[in-house]
Amino acid sequence: MPADLTIVGCGPAGAVAAWTAARAGLTVELFERSTFPRHRVCGEFVSAEALPLLTRIVPDLVAAAPVITHARFVAPSGRGSRFALPAPARGISRWGLDAALAEAASAAGVRIRLRTPAPPAALAAAGIIAAGRDWQPLPSPWLGVKAHLRGLAPAPEVEIYFFPGGYCGFAPVENGGVNVCCLLHRRGAGDLRRSRDFLAWLRAAGAASPALLARLRGAVQAAPTAVTTRVRLGRRAARAPGGALLVGDASGFVAPFTGDGLARAMLSGALAAELLAAGRAADYPAALRRAAAPGFRAAAGLRLLPGAVLARLAAPALARRLTAATRWRA
Ligand SMILES: Cc1cc2nc3c(=O)[nH]c(=O)nc-3n(C[C@H](O)[C@H](O)[C@H](O)COP(=O)(O)OP(=O)(O)OC[C@H]3O[C@@H](n4cnc5c(N)ncnc54)[C@H](O)[C@@H]3O)c2cc1C
Repeated sequence: MPADLTIVGCGPAGAVAAWTAARAGLTVELFERSTFPRHRVCGEFVSAEALPLLTRIVPDLVAAAPVITHARFVAPSGRGSRFALPAPARGISRWGLDAALAEAASAAGVRIRLRTPAPPAALAAAGIIAAGRDWQPLPSPWLGVKAHLRGLAPAPEVEIYFFPGGYCGFAPVENGGVNVCCLLHRRGAGDLRRSRDFLAWLRAAGAASPALLARLRGAVQAAPTAVTTRVRLGRRAARAPGGALLVGDASGFVAPFTGDGLARAMLSGALAAELLAAGRAADYPAALRRAAAPGFRAAAGLRLLPGAVLARLAAPALARRLTAATRWRA
């Protein structure tokens, strides 16, 4: 029997949409071309906005995740600013998060087809598309690279090291590991063939930042390197040409240093599923705009500031206000 709702993509947006729709009484079929667990390029900083919803779906995962109370922006010289986040966040690996969300959706009754790219019939029938930035791959001069490291003292803070041509974020994740994730301009990326040895590559790419090199002392790579070239920023559409609701990165990609992409993915997934289940899909574009657009505008403004300036936002109160301005509005 055909499902009430077909969803494409089981990242955080698709899994949360599926879980929400199934809990609202719909039968749901979900296509995912990959499988779990798997590593994914991401800073793995889960902002406070996502935590109430995430705690309802995967309470044990959230409880076990390190709490992140502060952010630190560091210039190449080592100078920088440290400020309290507007509310505590968590560090959760995509390895753990995506698998746990898929499992929760499955336990709620969702039929998940792993290792199955959505066939044309499913794409045509889809009510929700959560295929991430792959939905509409657009060229970008940027790329993202990440790996988990051990041997670094995890701190209850997200640290962002700026250097010419990019930046690198450190976040503590479960089991004492530290996730390190960089966004780089291709020009300054160096020899990506070396990126499998993340540390060798990172030392070369970060050579212009003595502060970053110092932070890496004693680090050992603990998981394979993940790389993505799909990092074109900006808002996109709320609906696909066939009418499906677009959620998560498929509806727009906010600058990753804001650390709000995961919250936006999960909250837009829940919003779309709730409206669909209530027969109010037509309300989704306006609701998405209200919640998502102000943060996109704030993030775009901040992006115009060079990293060295961001790293010297000396007034913690201002840094906190700017961070809050980039967030999804409930
Ligand atoms: C460098 C970098 C750092 C980041 N750091 C952070 C951070 O610290 N905090 C934060 O909140 N956000 C961060 N983000 C953003 C965050 O990773 C994304 O916003 C989030 O992954 C979006 O979730 P999604 O479910 O929309 O998409 P995805 O996580 O991309 O999931 C999409 C899923 O759809 C599947 N799929 C695609 N096409 C098909 C198809 N045709 N058929 C079936 N399945 C398909 C894919 O396999 C994938 O599983 C970062 C992003 C980058 C690039």
